[in-house]
Amino acid sequence: MVILGFFVAHWYLSLFTQSFFHHRYAAHKQFNMSRFWEKFFFIISWIFQGSSYLSPYAYGIMHRMHHAYADTEKDVHSPKYDSNFFSMMWRTKTVYDAIFTGKIEVEEKFKKEVPEWHSFDRIASHNISRTMWVVLYALFYLAFATQWWMFLLIPIHAVMGPFHGVIINWFAHKYGYTNFKVKDTSKNLMPVDILMLGEGFHNNHHKNASSPNFGFKWFEFDPIYPIILFFNKLRIIRLAPNR
Ligand SMILES: [Zn+2]
Ligand SMILES: [Zn+2]
Repeated sequence: MVILGFFVAHWYLSLFTQSFFHHRYAAHKQFNMSRFWEKFFFIISWIFQGSSYLSPYAYGIMHRMHHAYADTEKDVHSPKYDSNFFSMMWRTKTVYDAIFTGKIEVEEKFKKEVPEWHSFDRIASHNISRTMWVVLYALFYLAFATQWWMFLLIPIHAVMGPFHGVIINWFAHKYGYTNFKVKDTSKNLMPVDILMLGEGFHNNHHKNASSPNFGFKWFEFDPIYPIILFFNKLRIIRLAPNR
């Protein structure tokens, strides 16, 4: 029970930071926040994503490129141009690393207002940090696991962030239904999306990337949207007045 709770908590907390901070804020700037809150969410992302911490800067740039070139040869990840799940994951990792280390030239438009905290990113992405988190997960399992098979979940903890990314980037560009006709293959994975916190409404999102609400039809509930409204009320973030 403790292990299940830990797995579910890590799943949702890691996904929350990736969706709220990396995706909706860093890549799409659906709302604004002060430098203080930006740094706060950098640190929270490191804690919740742990061993698979993603740099909001590299993620933001890479994700903007995905929207700009979705399902073309220049797309950074597309099931149309990658033969399977793992080769796409590997190619995404290669592009991500190249952006993170500055090995590829990035067009100015993809860099505009992407949050930057390179000194923190370097520490949070360092192998020492990643290894420390995996050791902590393993120690937790050693203390609380009651069945041998539970240890098979540790590798998922280790790659939680990219694992969530690839679920959407692969499956939500392959399976599901569409509300909108768009130029790419984006789909809404499922009509009720509790598992991916609204990220599954990917066709809605590709149609209207600046909207903080990924739900469109009455039954498409995006669990992060009310949190965004709540944070806006608390003045942690600032939504555009018409949102
Ligand atoms: Zn997409
Ligand atoms: Zn997006």
